[in-house]
Amino acid sequence: MSANEAVTESVETNESKESLTALDRCDICGAQAYIRVELATGELLFCSHHGNEKKAKLEPIAKSWLDESDKLLSR
Ligand SMILES: [Zn+2]
Repeated sequence: MSANEAVTESVETNESKESLTALDRCDICGAQAYIRVELATGELLFCSHHGNEKKAKLEPIAKSWLDESDKLLSR
């Protein structure tokens, strides 16, 4: 245990409704979605590839940006 390990992400918000499932699909290619973007006009889902592709353009106007692509790495 070192003090450096304090950089653990504490994203425990219990908002399960925000969590993406295997049923959520990328709006562009139909792959499993890992990124949910909430816009004033509605909601978009992206796989990590297209999410990252659109991020620069959409993130500034998004009401929220949920990126669960780290789930990709953990399985
Ligand atoms: Zn995609």
